[in-house]
Amino acid sequence: MKTLFFLSLFISFNSFASSNYSKISKRIKKSINSNPSLEGFVLGKNDHGQDILGVKFIGNSKNRVSHLVVAAHHGNETKSAELAARFVEYLDRTGGGEFKDMDLYIIPVLNIGGFNKEDRHERDSNNRSHDPNRDYPDPCISKKNFKLKSTSHLANFVKSKDIIGAITIHGYYGSLTYPWGIYTDNYETLDHKVFHKKAKDAVLENNYIVGTHADILYPAGGAFEDWAYFEHGIWSLLVELEDSPNYGDDIKMIVRSLKSFPRSRSVDHRHTGSCERNKDVGISRP
Ligand SMILES: [Zn+2]
Repeated sequence: MKTLFFLSLFISFNSFASSNYSKISKRIKKSINSNPSLEGFVLGKNDHGQDILGVKFIGNSKNRVSHLVVAAHHGNETKSAELAARFVEYLDRTGGGEFKDMDLYIIPVLNIGGFNKEDRHERDSNNRSHDPNRDYPDPCISKKNFKLKSTSHLANFVKSKDIIGAITIHGYYGSLTYPWGIYTDNYETLDHKVFHKKAKDAVLENNYIVGTHADILYPAGGAFEDWAYFEHGIWSLLVELEDSPNYGDDIKMIVRSLKSFPRSRSVDHRHTGSCERNKDVGISRP
């Protein structure tokens, strides 16, 4: 299995020599090769046949739960992939002993095409451009979603791996936020207090602002973070890196967040408010 993965990685390198994505992929491969607790995986092929690469950290205790870290839904937010890659290197360097009761899945770049062009959007197989973080269903939109293979693969993945907690990395605002970010008359979930405490505790070093996506940023429809919580009860946190991030402090936030996640999904993740959309509210959450 590992041989197959490296073969596919090798092909990826040669197809996209010196691209932003190949540089990140090389770093990841180096960590995978140096640490037996790290293993490569392919999330799936995107709309242009490229393998979306990830790293699995495997804890060494018997009872483990699975969490997810995913960056670069938005291809122009390149520092998000940098943080994810540095987190993989942190796991390699430290051995990840603090995560022994977890498996961690890290996907440094979801939107490969956008990342290579530093473009927020991703193109489908018909070359139509989509915002990947508006490509999920949510409690307040009924349109059909998953126009991109990348987001569709990610949705299937969190289901098949029974993901409990998820951290998505974006940029650049300097915040750590939690649901809801949808257009609703009440931004607080039934887990509001739990979310708030976890987020507050996680930003000890970087002092990022915490709150709901909608309160701190602004509402948006079709984002992964709300979908994951609403659909599955996944404890979903969204990082907006600062413009000039202190990656060391941001890794501490990721570590604290992962360690604070409960061992099971939320049991009551309904949306209890009413959906309302204020057309004046911006739609371009970073
Ligand atoms: Zn973003």
